[in-house]
Amino acid sequence: MAPQPDSPSVLSFEEARRVVEDQARGLAARGTEAVDLLSAAGRVLAEPVVADRDIPPFPRSTRDGYAVRSGDLSQLPVTMEVIGEIKAGENPDLLPAAVVPGTAVSIMTGAPVPAGADAVVMVEYTSRLGKNIEITRGVVPGENIVPRGAEARLGGLLVDRGVRLNDAAIALAASVGKSRLEVYKRPRISVLTTGDEIVNVEATPGPTQIRNSNSYSLGSQILAAGGEPVLLPIAPDETGKLRQLIELGLQSDLLLLTGGVSMGRYDLVEPVLAELGAEFFFAGAKIQPGRPVVFGRVPCGAGTPARQGTSVSDHKYFFGLPGNPVSTMVTFELFARPLVEALAGMSLRKLAFLHTRLASEIRVKAGLTRFLPAILSGEFEDSRVQLVAWQGSGDIAATARANCYIVVPPDRELIAAGEWVAVMMR
Ligand code: AMP
Ligand code: MG
Repeated sequence: MAPQPDSPSVLSFEEARRVVEDQARGLAARGTEAVDLLSAAGRVLAEPVVADRDIPPFPRSTRDGYAVRSGDLSQLPVTMEVIGEIKAGENPDLLPAAVVPGTAVSIMTGAPVPAGADAVVMVEYTSRLGKNIEITRGVVPGENIVPRGAEARLGGLLVDRGVRLNDAAIALAASVGKSRLEVYKRPRISVLTTGDEIVNVEATPGPTQIRNSNSYSLGSQILAAGGEPVLLPIAPDETGKLRQLIELGLQSDLLLLTGGVSMGRYDLVEPVLAELGAEFFFAGAKIQPGRPVVFGRVPCGAGTPARQGTSVSDHKYFFGLPGNPVSTMVTFELFARPLVEALAGMSLRKLAFLHTRLASEIRVKAGLTRFLPAILSGEFEDSRVQLVAWQGSGDIAATARANCYIVVPPDRELIAAGEWVAVMMR
């Protein structure tokens, strides 16, 4: 039997999130593939990237200036003889002499510091007088030099498996000569929309019909989370056909259903999943929008093939997301995303909110954690956030104008203008 809403299976937002994270932790990706370095941007790394030599490979000057012995600069100003110049890429061993007391070497940013020198004085604090320089400011030992191996040692781990590759990680891979990277394959995430009133995007809807938008919001959220969406045909509110399509959806790595999870007579998703032997982790969360959200799993076996590399006794996970379009978007972000990311090979990421000041007051009833579409505006350190006017969780137009959600904790009924509030970016 599917659990009844308002039974203990309706969890607080934090409890529900915790349950999802616990299940996500046990999931593995589908295997790996090698891709070109630039194509790996945004993918999840499946091999450790290690340093192929010390980084930096030589003591590196971080400034244009003069390589000196810091002890020479105890009395200022001081005049010193310039015995050579080192550009980036040049070998300091080819200099005519090492830096000895009373001498300096002109050096450029990124160049190796020559033997004998232990600091670099910035060019701004020097003036050139023919073969000599006059220095007006002292340096401490090591100043403006990054020692050899200070950033990483030969063989040291630079980027670990499970990291989503951003610009810095791609740059790091490039710096150690990885022109191709092993990344995890994208998981296949089925999307099944339910409802007799829902028609395809290409259709001209009848007066009481609605075009299917949820499959497309979910499809784009799945792409953003690193999955490959598989959009299934729309399921009618009829048990037999719905069951067939759910079984089809369970062939993928994860099944996302939308609609049909509320308390209506034609909300058939939970009964059909129960028929398939589903275990429900929760059948509601104390949130708005998205209260009726359902999370569970079906044992693999007859009709539900095991995932690649897993045993037959394993499970396929599903979410029943409420059909209201904003509920669908919010509940994907809060609950489905960690599972998609885990199936994509990503290490678990905690959900962290940003904080900013509220522009005008919010009044709500206590009891639910709310995720309300809002606009973050302002500039630099002066940002503020304000709710968008909306007609409730069916209002896609208002949500499209929003660039974030304000998170209202369940114990608050009034948040005054000027207070700090938590914000989830979208
Ligand atoms: P349900 O969760 O099935 O009760 O649906 C709640 C509301 O969301 C209803 O107004 C549905 O018409 C609407 N809805 C359900 N599925 C979709 C969809 N795929 N695209 C757009 N609206 C939907
Ligand atoms: Mg429905």
